[in-house]
Amino acid sequence: MDYLRAVLNSNKEQEASYLKRLISIGAKLNINTTKYQNELKKLNITDSKITKATQSKTIQKVKVSQQHDISSVYTKENAIIINYNRVVSKRDIDFIEERTKTDHQDIFDLRGVFENAYETKLRMDGVDKIVIVQKDKNTVRIILKHEYNLKTIYIINNNQIIIKVLNLHLKEKLSTSLTNNYFNQKKKIIVIDPGHGGKDSGAVGPKKRYEKVAVFKVSKYLYEDLKKRGYTVYLTRKSDKFIQLKNRTHFANVKNADIFISIHVNAVPKNKAHKVKGIETFFLSPARSERAKRVAKLENKSDMDEMNYNSQMTFLTILNQSKITASNKLAIDIQQNLLYKTRQKYSGIVDGGVREGPFWVLVGAQMPAILVELGYISHPSESRRLYNRHYQKLLAEGLANGIDAYFSKNF
Ligand SMILES: [Zn+2]
Repeated sequence: MDYLRAVLNSNKEQEASYLKRLISIGAKLNINTTKYQNELKKLNITDSKITKATQSKTIQKVKVSQQHDISSVYTKENAIIINYNRVVSKRDIDFIEERTKTDHQDIFDLRGVFENAYETKLRMDGVDKIVIVQKDKNTVRIILKHEYNLKTIYIINNNQIIIKVLNLHLKEKLSTSLTNNYFNQKKKIIVIDPGHGGKDSGAVGPKKRYEKVAVFKVSKYLYEDLKKRGYTVYLTRKSDKFIQLKNRTHFANVKNADIFISIHVNAVPKNKAHKVKGIETFFLSPARSERAKRVAKLENKSDMDEMNYNSQMTFLTILNQSKITASNKLAIDIQQNLLYKTRQKYSGIVDGGVREGPFWVLVGAQMPAILVELGYISHPSESRRLYNRHYQKLLAEGLANGIDAYFSKNF
């Protein structure tokens, strides 16, 4: 959270010092911190105080490097650049071309260890999908997936492998500007996370209305709606089942989701129940307001062991400014569309606003992630609405419209 705060405040010195702490903790926990090391390099601070602090870390860095001999993988224009900590030879690379009627895949198997974590997705304009995965102990697999025949070549250059995509311009010929949007949208992957479940019923409102029930209904409607719109959609739970917080984002990471949306409803103690209602959308960031802290506390409590696990994960999860910005944009589109849709048919919908909060359920996500509080189940009339099928469908439609809006602007 300190690191996040530094990122948000764009305090480079502080950010660098926290990154160093992350790298040192990562080394102790035997977790790959290459990404932090790269972030640190990017900061490029020449301050003498910080240089001094780095010296003691050099040994740890070498240790990490031996375990993970691929230090970074990234795309630059039409190339994927793989940096090794050692000299690369032709024996380090295997190339497989897979061609079916509908799919073209270029598969590169590289000898080396990059990340023992989850699949990672890279972006390159003109290529439908690039996925990197640690295939086995010694092999990193990079898959380029596309609808037509791309030509890829690779170049070995000392400690670098460069994979180049040659005929990217073909894509432009294929996609006309108007149909383009539908095409791209079709490929977007959305993970919907109905909050709570099983032994964890979430907030409970009057007449035993359960959060886990209301959010599941809306999530199901949203799932159906998004599928009709052409998205690839997954639910973290398909029934009334308890799922640990960390497994929810893990699921989204494994599915390579483009966005992660956690669906909840809020509650306040009985003495305030008549007064507080409204729709709020949160995106992950260090909590600033008391209100955000209170909601986060409520949503985080489902599993205290999880908290410990996740407070470690907070340190070890890459959270960069661009992800926070994207999550913020998504939150705004969702909030606006929820209000717009529900207000067409219902009165007294309160705009609780877009807020930032430290939700553990969002921490592990490797994609823009938000948490929506669809209303207060503690409020007498709002809780009735949250259990009403017509209202649930409107909420789902508002959410889907928000998702459409986000992708149409941010592709
Ligand atoms: Zn909740």
